[in-house]
Amino acid sequence: MDSDKVRVVVVGGGTAGWMAAAALARLLPGQCQVHLIESEAIGVVGVGEATLPHIRAFNERLGISEKDFMARTRATFKLGIEFRDWGRIGDSYIHPFGTFGRGGGAIDFHHYWSRLKNEGAELPPLDDLSYACALAREGRFDHPGRDREQLSSTFGYAYQFDALLFAPYLRSLAEEMGALRTEGIVVDVERDVESGLIRAVTLEDGQRIAGDLFIDCSGFRSLLLGQTLGEPFEDWSKWLPTDRAVAMPCRTRTAVTPYTSAIAMRAGWRWRIPLQHRTGNGYVYASGFVSDDDARRALEEAVEGEPIAEPRLLRFKAGRRRRSWVGNCVAIGLASGFLEPLESTSIYLVQQAITALIELFPERDASDADRDEFNRIIDLEYDRIRDFLILHYHATTRDDSPFWNYVRTMPIPDSLAEKLALWRRRARVVKYREGVFLDASWIAVYLGQGIVPEGWDPRADMAGSAELAEAVAALRGDIARDVGTRPDHRAFLERYCPM
Ligand code: FAD
Repeated sequence: MDSDKVRVVVVGGGTAGWMAAAALARLLPGQCQVHLIESEAIGVVGVGEATLPHIRAFNERLGISEKDFMARTRATFKLGIEFRDWGRIGDSYIHPFGTFGRGGGAIDFHHYWSRLKNEGAELPPLDDLSYACALAREGRFDHPGRDREQLSSTFGYAYQFDALLFAPYLRSLAEEMGALRTEGIVVDVERDVESGLIRAVTLEDGQRIAGDLFIDCSGFRSLLLGQTLGEPFEDWSKWLPTDRAVAMPCRTRTAVTPYTSAIAMRAGWRWRIPLQHRTGNGYVYASGFVSDDDARRALEEAVEGEPIAEPRLLRFKAGRRRRSWVGNCVAIGLASGFLEPLESTSIYLVQQAITALIELFPERDASDADRDEFNRIIDLEYDRIRDFLILHYHATTRDDSPFWNYVRTMPIPDSLAEKLALWRRRARVVKYREGVFLDASWIAVYLGQGIVPEGWDPRADMAGSAELAEAVAALRGDIARDVGTRPDHRAFLERYCPM
């Protein structure tokens, strides 16, 4: 081994471990030597099937071809998430990966929409005024247009894929790029007596693997950061009370939708994620409000196709370790924290942590400044996602079960209360300049779940009402016409990455 390189030991070979190993091996080949330890006997969570558009940048940086990746992970395209029965039973809206309206104006489209709505105008559903939503509702897909003038440039997309196939795919890339892999169970962690830094891990068979930097990707166990270093866990379950899921894939009987569905249930919600070869299903629920048996039965009754595996129970708790980087240990993935899968954010968080680590990659000894900056970035990501998730539960009028009564009336974090006040007054959203859940995401959930603002940006008053209504009708027509020329999602997949 090259003695100048930082020896990076990754503990865990789930999605997080192999994403980290592949990215470090590919992007910092001169700076580090990666050694990953995983245990087939322990296994992986392996249910992360839906992603956010950011994953495309990750794949591109690693030189992964979209066609190859999609064929190998049996992926489909994802234009957003459909929420059914959230604001009220019978409601449905899509949180799209794209804007509402044509984009690029001085003020966001929803200000005009809010004004017209307030004037009592007959308006089309908001979903018809977003290219991504219309494409999704029609079950079509095409790559976004490159010309900013085109309506088809106003959306992005992500993937729905078989998580159990993603890690092995990344493993082959990481190993090609020189990453080492050892199969075995870590049973002991050796620390420096004075500094407390981790020096090595020992496997069940006695092998000792030493390193300079340890990446804890051991999943919910949080073997290094949680168990060994004792970093406290911040429990957010008072705001996000779901703590279990029962997952059960089935044969695809209905359409391969280019979107994920999140359908509210009596004590949580269920996902429906169509892949090329099957449909993933799961009921995410709060065990304080429904028993495991009842949750399993409710899922079995709801799924649309023939099950192809026994129901599998998963347990979790919403929250995260107070810091993700402590000493020479960086936790990534479930070892760092978990926010329930409603908005498919876990793999995104893994990716953000890897990106931050690469940017702040230490010499042999990390500085406090690097660690603090990394932890600040991760804090911001978690806090934003937490508030966004809580909004889905809090913004409901449902009172048909104790679960919905609890989440509707629970106290919410001040940071979310401030966002809601901003929205209610003049339809304003917190301006995040980058990262996850920018304006359109918040707007989709606010309006989709019936939080109608009292006002709007005064600049929306400058146009006449009739003129505005005409522009909205024209927009709807333009979107519908353009979307109508795009291929059916399944047909697109069969041509693009034949099975
Ligand atoms: P794991 O998959 O648990 O991997 C842990 C690894 O550590 C394994 O290789 C294991 O063998 C190893 N290990 C543990 N202990 C030891 C030891 N002592 N010695 C050696 N090796 C060890 N994410 C999304 O982005 N989208 C989704 O739609 C989504 N849906 C989800 C649904 C549910 C119900 C749950 C629970 C999670 C979901 N996730 C989703 C999250 C996603 O599954 C995980 O974030 C992702 O798989 C990363 O997991 P991980 O690699 O951190 O942990």
